[in-house]
Amino acid sequence: MTSNNPQTREWQTLSNDHHLAPFSDFKQLKEKGPRIITNAKGVYLWDSEGNKILDGMAGLWCVAIGYGRDELADAASKQMRELPYYNLFFQTAHPPVLELAKAIADIAPEGMNHVFFTGSGSEGNDTMLRMVRHYWAIKGQPKKKVIISRKNGYHGSTVAGASLGGMTYMHEQGDLPIPGIVHIAQPYWFTEGGDMTPEEFGVWAANQLEEKILEVGVDNVGAFIAEPIQGAGGVIIPPDIYWPRIKEILAKYDILFVADEVICGFGRTGEWFGTDYYDLKPDMMTIAKGLTSGYIPMGGLIVRDEVVEVLNEGGDFNHGFTYSGHPVAAAVALENIRILREEKIVERVRTETAPYLQSRLRELNDHPLVGEVRGVGLLGAIELVQDKATRKRYEGKGVGMICRQFCFDNGLIMRAVGDTMIIAPPLVITPAEIDELVAKARKCLDLTLSALQG
Ligand SMILES: *Cc1c(COP(=O)(O)O)cnc(C)c1O
Repeated sequence: MTSNNPQTREWQTLSNDHHLAPFSDFKQLKEKGPRIITNAKGVYLWDSEGNKILDGMAGLWCVAIGYGRDELADAASKQMRELPYYNLFFQTAHPPVLELAKAIADIAPEGMNHVFFTGSGSEGNDTMLRMVRHYWAIKGQPKKKVIISRKNGYHGSTVAGASLGGMTYMHEQGDLPIPGIVHIAQPYWFTEGGDMTPEEFGVWAANQLEEKILEVGVDNVGAFIAEPIQGAGGVIIPPDIYWPRIKEILAKYDILFVADEVICGFGRTGEWFGTDYYDLKPDMMTIAKGLTSGYIPMGGLIVRDEVVEVLNEGGDFNHGFTYSGHPVAAAVALENIRILREEKIVERVRTETAPYLQSRLRELNDHPLVGEVRGVGLLGAIELVQDKATRKRYEGKGVGMICRQFCFDNGLIMRAVGDTMIIAPPLVITPAEIDELVAKARKCLDLTLSALQG
């Protein structure tokens, strides 16, 4: 890359010499050097070369209220001056964490009024695993330990998070999954539906849950965890029949249901939570990302009242983090939720920007490379294929990565999951910015197609 700014090279040298980046090929990154993002406002990022980029991914799905909101910076600064840190161990608390727990209970589904705070989504799911097993032990059923999860689900990158997740490329490193976690098929009709209709496939995929419960034995199953919509797996919208059928199965067996709301939570679907969108009735919900709009790390686990009643009888829960409910993170989250509510951002997604984004995105269906456009709320996916009718991919060409690079070079961040392009822009994106996003996406699809033909 030719550079306008000598500092870019300096920063890249620091990266090469000292930084180990997450989810990266260290050697390849050294050869190319990272793009350096220096500042951001609204839905836009600027890199150190002065390029303006529309962030179609809201960072990593998290910057709900957009970049550059002074209110969050002010909330952090005020809290740091007042009480920068105190822990919640040993029977203490502080006002921001208590006010935040109440604010979350106010927007959470009915009957979910308690929150355990963590530093991230992964830690939220680690907490879930330990809490589920503790819950069943208190109820005198200590054998109910197994957690059922789904292939290609994403639940984080700690040992438990990566094990709960169903990413084989993560399992391959470090002997995962750990014992006591099993996976069933995902409801991803486009790649796995074969000759079945989406409806038939949705029933089949949901029935895998029942088969797995019977195979493991209901006396051994503690919980089923799933994202309402799989995010990192490729914005996978299950067939309409899937969740109703899963709910029927869950109603038959005495196991807990955990919704991983780390992406769907805080308005992404146009409802406060993905479980509101699909009318699921979970026992626990993992949260993070949109909770603070990513301005500061924080996650948690929202727990149903009936579960809390059991936990109340269990003595100490021997679990927690130094930064559980960190006062500065809590103050930022509170301010973030205040803005989401007062500016009616979730309503605006539901009534205005989600319908607009979804209809504009579907215009891309006419493109020769596009096999399917799907989405819910401000989540979208574009499947890139060689043959629309048979859903056949371009084998071994890395089409997704080619397209992603064109996007970068043309001022748009879209993420590639294999040959699926995905978007999840900030919830404050305007219709005019959606027009820009879709126009850039079309241009990059054209460039990708030319590159494949050239
Ligand atoms: C990002 C994510 C996580 C992990 O959250 P971290 O804060 O990165 O630990 C868990 N579940 C889902 C659905 C996610 O998208």
